[in-house]
Amino acid sequence: MMESMDFVSLVVPPKESLADPAWWFAIQEDKVLVHQESAEQATIPLLKDFAELELPILRRHYLGRLGECHCFTVEVPIGVGLPAGMRFEGLRQIYGQMNETLYSLAGRALQIVDWDRTHQFCGRCGSETRTHLTERAKECPQCGLLHFPHLAPAIIVLIQRGREVLLARARRFETPMYSTLAGFVEPGETLEEAVVREVKEESGITVKEIQYFGSQPWPFPHSLMIGFTANYATGEITPSDGENVDVRWFTADSLPQLPGKLSIARKLIDWFIEEQAKSSPTLKDNSAR
Ligand SMILES: [Zn+2]
Repeated sequence: MMESMDFVSLVVPPKESLADPAWWFAIQEDKVLVHQESAEQATIPLLKDFAELELPILRRHYLGRLGECHCFTVEVPIGVGLPAGMRFEGLRQIYGQMNETLYSLAGRALQIVDWDRTHQFCGRCGSETRTHLTERAKECPQCGLLHFPHLAPAIIVLIQRGREVLLARARRFETPMYSTLAGFVEPGETLEEAVVREVKEESGITVKEIQYFGSQPWPFPHSLMIGFTANYATGEITPSDGENVDVRWFTADSLPQLPGKLSIARKLIDWFIEEQAKSSPTLKDNSAR
């Protein structure tokens, strides 16, 4: 039923219907409080008031409305006892265990709590900040500087050469997994320039025909992934920046271990596989298995 509910982002709670149960996204460090219904299913607490759980809170923000329900986020200090059946879980652990809207709101809540926690003092004059009354901002009462939640934009790109795709095994991956190239956008760069630079740095090749694919909030801790596809232009693979242990061309029928379904990297690779299958009946058979 929740699939059809639209989320409206708000900073100030509307006056009406505050007595209704609300979704409470409780954050502790980088984890979110869930009611674990079974091994595969978790939910966010739906309560009239968070006080029902008798847990202390450090900070609280209104997130907006989901359908007819208000959404709040609160930060809970570490070391508190939890009600039976509830626990704090990492976002990656609860992926696929709840409705996608609630899941993405949990990611939003995590970022807002983290931003509030790390912006208690003004970055310019060092005074204690206060939460702005009507905007998602922390305000310095001394010098007036506003601190907004910050997002780090990162490009991610799937590069094709004929029927091949370029994938890299990053040093930071714990498993022998290969993924698309990605990197943070630098100040002053366009997204397309970031794609060209990052690909050159990580693989040594140049790309052309850069096309927007889609985007994904990536709250680990506060990125926005902007996905592209591109075609190989020139050059040989010469990994140089030390981020990757291997960079290689793969065909759709010889793909290595891939990232999980959560990531836009996987959506890009799945798109590539589908495109290849359209022009190759054999691959279609393989993907159906
Ligand atoms: Zn200041």
